[in-house]
Amino acid sequence: MTHLSIKGLTKRFSGQTEAAVADLNLEIESGSLVALLGPSGCGKTTTMKMIAGLLEPTAGDILFDKQSILRIAPERRGAVMVFQNYLLFPYMSIAQNVGYGLKIRKIDRAIIDQRVREILELVRLPGLESRYPKELSGGQQQRVALARALVVEPRLLLLDEPLSNLDAHLRFELRDLIRDIQQKMGITTVFVTHDQEEAVVLADKVALILDGKLRQYDNADAYYKRPADEETARFFGGQNFVAGRSANGVFEAPLGSLSLPQGAHEGSGILTFRPENVRIGAAATGENSLQARLVDKIFMGTQTRLRLSVGDETITAIANPNDVEGYLVDQEVPLALPSSALWVLKN
Ligand code: ADP
Ligand code: MG
Repeated sequence: MTHLSIKGLTKRFSGQTEAAVADLNLEIESGSLVALLGPSGCGKTTTMKMIAGLLEPTAGDILFDKQSILRIAPERRGAVMVFQNYLLFPYMSIAQNVGYGLKIRKIDRAIIDQRVREILELVRLPGLESRYPKELSGGQQQRVALARALVVEPRLLLLDEPLSNLDAHLRFELRDLIRDIQQKMGITTVFVTHDQEEAVVLADKVALILDGKLRQYDNADAYYKRPADEETARFFGGQNFVAGRSANGVFEAPLGSLSLPQGAHEGSGILTFRPENVRIGAAATGENSLQARLVDKIFMGTQTRLRLSVGDETITAIANPNDVEGYLVDQEVPLALPSSALWVLKN
């Protein structure tokens, strides 16, 4: 198990004015799975390549268990990377692909065969040793790529959008498999994704990167309850942002006066609350109750999405279909915003 420290890591490609990765600092606990989350082009792959030794940083340091590894050759770092597009060797059998890392380490043939068999069982592909990559589905190929990385028992597993090329059901299946294996083996893992749901389901902690900069590094639930700023909240599906002022635990806005949870930011700010935390219709009981007018209502099967106006503000809510069944567009609807669901962003 390896603790990974990233300190002031910066990469500026020649000819670029903005750094692809700018002063990134992260501490990744031994044995944990951290998701690097951010939109395309925010510097995720560049960060992973610097950790693996495939790219040299412009500045900063990377430490495995407090030892800088920048001067250590990629193949001796003990970090293995799995890419989005599998990159299996097409003319090698599955067994040869998976055993490759052991073969170049001059491990005994019988031991290689044994380890390959075990690891193929672990990724739930037993008995496929003699097949070739083109004979496997995308999901199976990605599991072979994972097996090839795991067979060398790396200190650090780097997964760069490993699920992006797969259909939804395969994506969920492999996501759960990765989580299982990671917990079983306890390998420190960095998982890159642009999908916030994937990050939340998989990771012990999520690092949100926007424009090459770390915005927030936190447990998954913090992004829903205590987002660092409006852009972060929006990245996680936040939709309600109301400008106003808070003083003495009360937020004054065009919506009305709303009591806030303890420790909320005081002064000018932006009130935010998750659409799924708005209590509406039959569920609109308790503090901070308001009257709204229904603007729009979309039944989505297991939930109903509503747009409501309160004075000049429009807010979005997601409700249990049963709670809002009888309400029609233009009708008055009661709603409540429990103080525990409110969060004030500095502006
Ligand atoms: P992500 O993986 O988050 O999509 P990347 O790390 O691949 O993002 O890229 C971050 C930024 O660095 C992008 O603007 C990209 O165009 C740029 N970039 C990546 N690799 C190179 C390279 N070899 N030379 C120049 N620019 C690059
Ligand atoms: Mg990338």
